[in-house]
Amino acid sequence: PFDVLVVGGGPAGASAAIYAARKGIATGIAAERFGGQVADTMGIENLISVPYTEGPKLVSAMEQHVNEYDVDIMNMQRAEKLIPAKEKGGLHEVRLENGATLQSKTLVLSTGARWRQMGVPGEEEYRNKGVAYCPHCDGPLFKGKRVAVIGGGNSGVEAAIDLAGIVGHVTLIEFGEEMRADEVLQKKLRSLDNVKIITSGQTTEIVGDNGKVSGLNYTDRNTGESHHVELEGVFVQIGLVPNTEWLKGDIELSQHGEIIVNDRNETSIPGVFAAGDATTVPYKQIVISMGEGSKAALSAFDFIIRNSVE
Ligand code: FAD
Repeated sequence: PFDVLVVGGGPAGASAAIYAARKGIATGIAAERFGGQVADTMGIENLISVPYTEGPKLVSAMEQHVNEYDVDIMNMQRAEKLIPAKEKGGLHEVRLENGATLQSKTLVLSTGARWRQMGVPGEEEYRNKGVAYCPHCDGPLFKGKRVAVIGGGNSGVEAAIDLAGIVGHVTLIEFGEEMRADEVLQKKLRSLDNVKIITSGQTTEIVGDNGKVSGLNYTDRNTGESHHVELEGVFVQIGLVPNTEWLKGDIELSQHGEIIVNDRNETSIPGVFAAGDATTVPYKQIVISMGEGSKAALSAFDFIIRNSVE
């Protein structure tokens, strides 16, 4: 059995594995796809000390770094069930889709999250070519340009306020009759003069030109009329979905499905820790996930020295 088994191989998982392995304890990572969301990212400009890198490059650097240590990397392995230890200090089990079961004294769950997509024509085609999901990451790429934000919940309205300070113009499109964000955010948004708010708007298509986004079409749900907006970028802000479906019923999750963690990355199960986008930690970013992964591994190590007498 492992001392620390990390489930998920994104920035949080890679960091947890390195921190655990550096304690000289038996460490493994099981990941459906090593690299996680970073593998789908183009330019990265906010990983401190690295002014610019690209997703695939960062994934291979993370892999190389993990490989410096004695870590058992089990790539292309999807976890489907967590079986918590029967007693404190006992072995936890993780059942994989291929039928195998892994055992470990502690677990670090770092299965990340995925952005909810609109599922309209053009969204996939122009992903990273004008269609973006992370304003903190990609906002500066649209400096002075016209963008839309899809979604009028807290994340959409926060994104629109944030972007309005960088880009030339923001059109916010909310599907419902009213935005759902907190009133204080809505008020702030309404006070900005380079923002247009459209409610009862259903985005139907992202259109492009020369391989880049050039506009979007939406339907006014009150009149049924179709409209076109010319712009260079579309930020989709209709929810971040944690990859925690496999944990339901076995560990405490928030109403959004995030694994509830405290400031030591402890979950509701003793010896089971969690880190990164899959958890309740605010602000989903690479540096934050890396920091959280290292914290989770240090907490796991602390748990081991306190709970095992050998
Ligand atoms: P993830 O990266 O989501 O990794 C999750 C890991 O768990 C993966 O290995 C996955 O295969 C695995 N997994 C999932 N389910 C299972 C399962 N059941 N069993 C086994 N393994 C499983 N952040 C920045 O800081 N800067 C940026 O510029 C930036 N740009 C972004 C651009 C895009 C397009 C996207 C999508 C995100 C971007 N982000 C950026 C956000 C950043 O990628 C995430 O915050 C970060 O990757 C989260 O790390 P994580 O390790 O928690 O999860």
